[in-house]
Amino acid sequence: MSGRGRCPDCAGGFLEGNGRCGQCNGTGTNTQLDSAQPQCPYCKGTGVCQTCGGSGLRQFGADYPTIQELFE
Ligand SMILES: [Zn+2]
Ligand SMILES: [Zn+2]
Repeated sequence: MSGRGRCPDCAGGFLEGNGRCGQCNGTGTNTQLDSAQPQCPYCKGTGVCQTCGGSGLRQFGADYPTIQELFE
């Protein structure tokens, strides 16, 4: 797969990711039960996919707008 498309690290979504952290499925909870860290270390407890920042799309350079820019 090449070019722009679905963020590979989102928890769900098909053509676009759902913007949720794939490690904790958007719960923000650490799934590693043997860890002393209660929050998901991947998203730091936010539940937001850190790869795409919640946009659900892969980021390929500065020409692609972020979700924040889209909502401004
Ligand atoms: Zn993502
Ligand atoms: Zn997470």
